[in-house]
Amino acid sequence: MYTRVVPEQCIACGLCQLKAPELFEYDEDGVAYVKIDNNQGTTPIPAALMAKFKDAYTSCPTGAIVRSPTPFKPSTKAEKPGA
Ligand code: SF4
Repeated sequence: MYTRVVPEQCIACGLCQLKAPELFEYDEDGVAYVKIDNNQGTTPIPAALMAKFKDAYTSCPTGAIVRSPTPFKPSTKAEKPGA
């Protein structure tokens, strides 16, 4: 499973990082991104973290965390953590 955060939908609530600190981090504006692949959605979620991922995924109040069984295309809404 692959995941990324859609920054336009993130309200910087902090829940995903609370639920899965190994997967989610925040940029300087508090907007979340997936830290295992810099929010590209191209690195599989480690099996050991799937439970935490699901917890974060279902906790996100805005649906900003998206997931896919296949890698996301790099061209899809380029995220820019820290920008
Ligand atoms: S849980 Fe959702 S809205 Fe909250 S910080 Fe994470 S991605 Fe953003």
